[in-house]
Amino acid sequence: MLQTRLNQGLHKINLHPTGLCEQCSEIQDCKHFIFKCKTTEELRKEISKWAHSEIRECKYEEVLNKVEVLYALVKFCSKHELII
Ligand SMILES: [Zn+2]
Repeated sequence: MLQTRLNQGLHKINLHPTGLCEQCSEIQDCKHFIFKCKTTEELRKEISKWAHSEIRECKYEEVLNKVEVLYALVKFCSKHELII
């Protein structure tokens, strides 16, 4: 399993006290980051353009299998200087 630098991943290796998103107070994992976080609304809009529909958490694997979505994710993280 891949480990992320999101707070849940950092919490698993004792580098974050709670694993929660500091903006939303929910577990900060990949699903939260992509589908729910208050700070990634711009990312969801970009992904929805490629997915040609509103993205939903139930389509997680489907969404991440699209190269255009991965490109949007990389572009968003690069723009905001995020490492996930
Ligand atoms: Zn959040």
